Parts: sequence; structure tokens; C-alpha cells
Amino acid sequence: MAKYTDADCRLCRREGCKLFLKGERCTSSKCALERRPTVPGQHGAQNARKKQSEYGQQLREKQKIKRYYGLLEKQFHLTYETASRMKGNTGENLLMLLERRLDNVVYRMGIATSRALSRQIVNHGLITVNGRVVNIPSYVVSEGDVIAVKEGKGDNGLFKDLSKMKITTPKWMEFDAKTLTGRINAKPQRDDIDMNFAEHLVVELYSK
Ligand code: SF4
Repeated sequence: MAKYTDADCRLCRREGCKLFLKGERCTSSKCALERRPTVPGQHGAQNARKKQSEYGQQLREKQKIKRYYGLLEKQFHLTYETASRMKGNTGENLLMLLERRLDNVVYRMGIATSRALSRQIVNHGLITVNGRVVNIPSYVVSEGDVIAVKEGKGDNGLFKDLSKMKITTPKWMEFDAKTLTGRINAKPQRDDIDMNFAEHLVVELYSK
């Protein structure tokens, strides 16, 4: 599978906003976007001053959302297609499906400091859903699902300090850092996502 191998911070600089791809570094003064808030590349600053076309705006919004959730084009487009077959607003459905991905849920519960790390944790079979190991990051969780660190893996260096950390989870889920177990209490709603996404631009782009 194709893989993005360049520096993550370039993606934030390209989109002009924090995508929170590097864990604790993103909230520290070391954040590259705070130190160098310019578009990367030789002509980055020059291009950034140009007025964006309608297509350009739609493309940038799609890239921003895709990169925030750490997906490649094919996975993102498949998720969009699923969202477009669901009842209701396609843009919101897309965001809700992305939010309910297991890798995102593990990140939101505070089990991992970034989505990239949570994807690795899931891939390595360290997470269970309703008592069974699920090693598929794109697995979509449902209301009532119990997400936990696999029994016997709590001593892993990745998890041992979680109980000392202050973790704030979105209101649609809960997580107990002592038992390393969480629960999905409800489906996420649009206002549970604090990023300023214009998801309708993605719908416009893919509807062409
Ligand atoms: Fe983006 Fe985080 Fe890098 Fe800042 S530190 S530019 S938020 S990935």
C-alpha cells in the first residue's frame, strides 16, 4: 500500500492549520506551524497569496480532512461512497464515519497520543472490541461497544502512564484509564468535532 513518507508537519503547513499529527509536540512550542507558518516548498509563499479557485478550495478541504484522519485517497473515497449511500447529509455522514473508525476512537480515548500511533496499536492487536481483538484500524464502532487494551498488555510502556494523565474524551464516549477500558455511549454528532471543517466542499468535489 502506498504510504506518505515525508515530514508530517509539512502537511499542516500546506493546509495552514494544525492537524495534530505528532502527539504532544503539536501542543508545544516546538510545533512547526507555529515556528514557520508558511506553505512549504520553493514557491509556497507565492502560491499562498494567489486567490484560490472554487476547485482549489474544494480540493484543499478534502486534503485537510483526509490528512487529519490519516487516510490515503482510496480509503477516503471509499468512506465517502459509504457516506453517500446513507440517509441524511453526506458531508456529516462522512465525518461521523471517520470519527467512528477504531483508530480514531483509540486516539480520542487518549490511549494513544496521535492517530498514527493508535493505528499501530490497533494493527499490532493490542485493542479489543467487546472482548475480541480487532486489528483493523478502519473498523467502525457502534453504540454500546466496549473498547479495551487487550488483557495482559496493560504493562506495555505505551499504556502504563495513562492513569496519571488527564484525559478529556468527547461526550459520546468514556474511558477509564485504571481499567484501560472505554465505552461508546452514543453516536458522535457534528458539534463533537472541534475542527473547522467545511465538509460540504468535499461533497461538491466528489459530486462533479
Ligand atoms: Fe502539525 Fe503537530 Fe507538526 Fe504542529 S507539530 S505542524 S500540529 S504535526
